[in-house]
Amino acid sequence: MGFSFKISARDGRARTGAISTPRGDIRTPAFMPVGTAATVKAMMPESVRETGADILLGNTYHLMLRPTSERIAALGGLHKFMNWDRPILTDSGGFQVMSLASLRKLTEEGVRFSSHIDGSRHLLTPERSMEIQRLLGSDIVMSFDECTPWPADEKTARASMELSMRWAKRSRDAFGDRPGHALFGIQQGSVYPDQRAESAEKLRAIGFDGYAIGGLAVGEGQELMFQVLDYAPGQLPDDKPRYLMGVGKPDDIVGAVQRGVDMFDCVLPSRSGRTGQGWTAHGPVNLRNARHRDDPRPLEEGCSCPACRNYSRAYLHHVIKSDEIIGSMLLTWHNLTYYQRLMQGLRDAIAAGTLEQFVARFHAEREQGDIDPAN
Ligand SMILES: [Zn+2]
Repeated sequence: MGFSFKISARDGRARTGAISTPRGDIRTPAFMPVGTAATVKAMMPESVRETGADILLGNTYHLMLRPTSERIAALGGLHKFMNWDRPILTDSGGFQVMSLASLRKLTEEGVRFSSHIDGSRHLLTPERSMEIQRLLGSDIVMSFDECTPWPADEKTARASMELSMRWAKRSRDAFGDRPGHALFGIQQGSVYPDQRAESAEKLRAIGFDGYAIGGLAVGEGQELMFQVLDYAPGQLPDDKPRYLMGVGKPDDIVGAVQRGVDMFDCVLPSRSGRTGQGWTAHGPVNLRNARHRDDPRPLEEGCSCPACRNYSRAYLHHVIKSDEIIGSMLLTWHNLTYYQRLMQGLRDAIAAGTLEQFVARFHAEREQGDIDPAN
C-alpha cells in the first residue's frame, strides 16, 4: 500500500479529499497538531486522536538534539516511542535551526550550529535531514530548505529560493525510493510572483509527492499572505496535496482553504491553551479575565470536548489563574477540538458546495463576539 491523494469534491478553488498512507487516511483540508518533542503538550495521544486529528507534526530539530533520532530509531521509531500509530509529518529542521540555534553558519553544504540545549556542535544538511526523518520513521518527510526571512528584497529572496531549490534536489536524491513514505518539496520566493512561479517549476521538474508553500506566516500579515495565496497554490500541481506551513489562526486557515490549500500546522491551539486562551466560533476568549469568575456556562455551548461538557468557565478561570496543570490540559483539549471541528465544517461545506455560506457564517459568528451573560 502506497501513498496517494484523491480529491473527492471541489468548491471554487477549495478542494476536499483524502491522503492515503499505510498508517491511515488523512482527511483534507487537514489540521495537524504540533507534537514538537514527541508530545502534543498537555495531551495524551489518544485524546489528540479523539479531537479528530488524523496526523501529527514532529520537529526534526528538537528530536535530533534530544533524545536524538538514533535513540528513537533504536527504540522502534517515533510512532512507537510516543504511542501514536497514525501518520506523522516531520519538518526538515531548516526553519527551527535558523530560529532557535546559536552560532549558525549557513553555507552551500548546509547549516552548522550550536544546540540551544547544551551548546554541542551539529551540521544539518539535506542529506542529514533525510537521514534523521528516516530514522524517526516519518510518513511525510519535508525537504530541507531555507525559510526566506521576512522582509526580503528581490535579490535576497532569489538567492535564498535558488539555494532551497538546490537543496530540494539533494533532498530528493537522498530520500531515494521509499514506498509508503512521501517527500514534499517546499516552494519559496517570498512575495514575488515570478520567483514563486520559478520555484514551483523547479520543484515540479524534480517531482515530489506533495508541495508546501513556505516562507509565509513569518510576519508579513494576513493581507500579504492572502495576496500570495491568490496565485501560489495554482502554480503547484493540482493533483498533489498543498501544505501551508505554520498557519495559523482560524481565519487564516479559512482564507487559505478558499484559495486551494489542503494541509496546515500551527502551535497556536496548543500553545494558547497553556496561556488561558480558548478558541471558539465566537472568536478567542481569554479565560484569565475576571468576567468569567462567576460564570457557570461552558466555554463554548454545544462543544463535545471534556472542558465544555464537564466544567464551567468559572472553574476554567480558577484553575488557569491558579496555574493548575488541568487548566492547560482542558484548554488545549478544547482548542484542538475547536480546530478539528472547523476543519470538518470546511470539508463538509466543500463537499456540499456551500463553502461561501459556511465562510459567511464563520465571519458573522466571530463578529458577534463572545457575549457576556451580564449584558
Ligand atoms: Zn470545548
